Formats: sequence, C-alpha cells, structure tokens
Amino acid sequence: MTYKDLGALTDPLEAVKSLFAEMTTMKEELSATKSDVARLNRNNTKLVVENRNLKAELAQTKEELSRLKKEAPVEKDSTNSSIPPTKQSIAKQIIQHTSSLRKPSGKNPDGQPGHAGHSLDKNTSPDKTIEHKAKTCPFCGHAIPEDAEQVCVKTIQEIEITGPMQPCSVTEHKYYSAVCTHCHKAARAESVTGDCKKVMYGPVLQTMVVYLSVVQSVPYNRIAEIMRDIFMVPTFSEGTVKNILSKNKHKATPVYDSILSYIEKFKAAGMDETGAYINQRLCWFWCLQCPKLCYVFADESRGLKALERHGILKHLEDIILYTDLHGTYFKLKVRGHQVCLVHLLRNLQYLCDLNKEQHWASDIQELLRQAIHESNTKPREQIDIGSLKKQLHKLLEQDVSSYERKGCKDFQALQNGLINCEQYIFTFLEQEGVPHHNNSSEGAIRILKVKSKVSGGFRTEVGADEYACFHSIVETAKRNGVSKFKALFQLISDMAPKDDFIGRLLSEND
Ligand SMILES: [Zn+2]
Repeated sequence: MTYKDLGALTDPLEAVKSLFAEMTTMKEELSATKSDVARLNRNNTKLVVENRNLKAELAQTKEELSRLKKEAPVEKDSTNSSIPPTKQSIAKQIIQHTSSLRKPSGKNPDGQPGHAGHSLDKNTSPDKTIEHKAKTCPFCGHAIPEDAEQVCVKTIQEIEITGPMQPCSVTEHKYYSAVCTHCHKAARAESVTGDCKKVMYGPVLQTMVVYLSVVQSVPYNRIAEIMRDIFMVPTFSEGTVKNILSKNKHKATPVYDSILSYIEKFKAAGMDETGAYINQRLCWFWCLQCPKLCYVFADESRGLKALERHGILKHLEDIILYTDLHGTYFKLKVRGHQVCLVHLLRNLQYLCDLNKEQHWASDIQELLRQAIHESNTKPREQIDIGSLKKQLHKLLEQDVSSYERKGCKDFQALQNGLINCEQYIFTFLEQEGVPHHNNSSEGAIRILKVKSKVSGGFRTEVGADEYACFHSIVETAKRNGVSKFKALFQLISDMAPKDDFIGRLLSEND
C-alpha cells in the first residue's frame, strides 16, 4: 500500500490491517539485517586483530632476517678452508690469483725514503777485461791516431750466466777517450753495453728471463728463483725480472710495430680474439696473422674500437680476412672475407645432433666438405665454383621451421647466419693464399689460455702489452723456422734493433 492508494481508501480497517502486515514483514527483515551486520562486525573485528598480529610477526621476521644477514656465515673458499682452488669458479680463481692478501700499506711501491738501495756492486776481480779505445771522432769523423793518448773514462761490468750450477762470469768493459787531433774535442769509444750505470746483465741472461716469462709463462718470482738457484746469479729479484722485460720491450717496439706493414703485403690474413684478465678485468687479446707473421695486441674492447686504437684498420684495406663469425670482422673495410668452415661444420653438427630426422644440416656439411676436398685435390680452374654456390643457395632457401624443437629457433638462427655470410663461404676456392679455416689464428693466441691458467692473467696493462709485443716476435720467428730463444737473443743482443729485423726473419729460409 502506497501514499497514492490513500485517496482510494474505502475501508480504514482493511487499510490498517494491511499496514500492520507490512510492518511485521519489515520488522522481520530489519531484525535479520541487524543480525547480519552484527555477524559481519564480529568477523571484521576478528580480521583486524588477525591483521595486527600478522603485521607484528612480519616486523619481527624482518628484524631477525637482517640480523642473520649481518651474521651470515662467510662462504668457504680456498682462502679460508681446505677447499682446493681448482674446485672454485674460474672467476673466483682469477680474482684470487690477481689480488694480494696483503693490505695496501699506502706507500709508494719503489724504495722508501731513507732506504740506501742496493744497485749491484762491482766485482773486484772480473774474469775478463775488454778495452774499448776511441777510434774515430764522432764530431768531425776523423780517425784517432793509434799513438794518441787514451784515458779510461768509464768501466762497466757485465754479469752473464754460464750454465746450470756454474758461477756467473764477469766481464769488465773499459771505455777510453782521446782528444781528436783535428777538432780537439774529446772523442769517446763507442758503447757496446748501452745505457747503464756500472753493472749490467749479459744478453743470454736477459734472453733467458724474457723467454721464461713470455714463452714458458713462468711467473716473475719463479724466474727470479731459477736465476738464483740454477744459474747462481747473486741477489736476483722479481723487480729485476720486471726491469729486464720493460727495458727490452722498449727496445723491441720498432720491430713489433713493423710486423703490421709486413702482414699488409701478404694480401690475406686471419684474425681472432680471446678473453684474458688484465688487472681483474676481462679484456681481449687480438691476433692478426698470416702464415709467416703474427701480430698480437691487448685491448679492453672486443669491437671496432680496439682495432682503431691500435692502428690496425689501415693495414687491412687490401686484405682478404679469414675469421670466425664474430660481427666486428664484417664491419671492417677489407678486400674480402672467408668465414671459417671448421666453425660452420661444428655448428651444423650441433643441428644434426638435435634433430636426427632432417638432412638439411648434413647436406650443407656434405657440400662444404666437398668444396674443401676439391680445393685440396684439384687445380683451382677445374673446380666448378658456380655449381657449389648454386647448391648452397638452394639449401639456404629451404624452409627449416619444421626441424625446430618446441620453442627453439636453432635452425632458423644458423640459417640466418649462413645467409648473412653466404658470399664469404667459397672465397678460398677463388683466391690464392686463403685457407678455408681460421685454425692458425686460434693457435696463435691459444697460449693466452695457458697463461691465464698458470697465473690467472695479467696484473697490469703494461705487463699485457709487454707480453703481446714479445709473443708477436717469437711467434713470427717460429713461423720462419727460427727458434724462439734464438730470435729473442738476436733481438736483445742487438743494441738498437730496427724494423728490418722482421725482414731478416722472413728471408731466413728463402
Ligand atoms: Zn774531431
């Protein structure tokens, strides 16, 4: 019954009855709602309490966790337990190898103020004396007469190793000076010992130090021990090893630099790069090489920047470069490319192992092997390169999606890679002196892995550069049939080796 219905009211009693009935229903509804609200309120209170308790519990847990973190048990490794270093991760090994347990003292690593220093003392009874008389005047070029009065102005002693468990020999060089009869200036004898104070080490000893460090990867402290214990060199320290390496690196630099211009003339060269730690940072040793020459350098970058910094780019312009698929090589301005087929064959083998039902990968393998076989057995002009290229192109056009494992794109990825380098796969069949693989570049820098295992890498950039310089020279020597020791000896005993040093190595076996 609504307000409008009041106008049509005829029987008030009926109306009151109906109103009562409605009121009763509403009362019942109200009471049900009230009890609902009360129930919900009770529930809510319960939840509020529960929430408060949980919050308190969480805060307590957080506090506990942060306390535990602070007191967290230190991870065990070889520095604080009997776990052998070889059981640790390579990264950890390298960090430990190249960091010292000693806390830095804050002092300069050289001699401290007030320290007397101990440069080598002269031997009072040298085994041999060589007199260097003034022969020509360096100012006017006139000869010094034989009967001119010569005065000794400088003596230098040279310590040289003579063999295992043999005392070192001491040679005294006496330098004389005479007054030139023509221009009346003091003419001094030419130096054969270079720039040194009073005692120096002989070329065999210096060669031994460089050889042990660069060729045999022996750490500095062990080289010093070998010199003292085996060759009986008195007071030989790690510092002396460093000095000998740095002095000779300086001397070898013109020879090292000249290798690039010799490589340039060969028209085809391989490149590769490998990671090594320098001062605990992962850096890259790059190698540019051809059968008779090898140039290695270190840089923090694995990209174009490294090649720019080392002045490599201008030497590559007329070269066909054989490499793996590393992207940097394909950004270079070169005459042409050959990708390493050994790498490709390996990558294809992976696909063969993944899916044994398909023949796509093995068909490409077969084609590459055929090309290699033909280049080994047939003269260049008898090889049908066009047909090989056509077969390859047909295979690369195939749809490989049905060979994929669920959710993987291995086939697609390699196919794309092959399509990108399609024109660089058969260069070796067309160009003289281009191999189908990059094995020799990899071989030239494999030694870096040994070096990393022995000593964990390099402590300084200077050390890495020294290594790259000497390694390039000895590797070049080896490729020309000259022993690494002999090449280093020739380099070190030469007063001022020049860029024709490499030219002589190249003609050694002509
Ligand atoms: Zn003169």
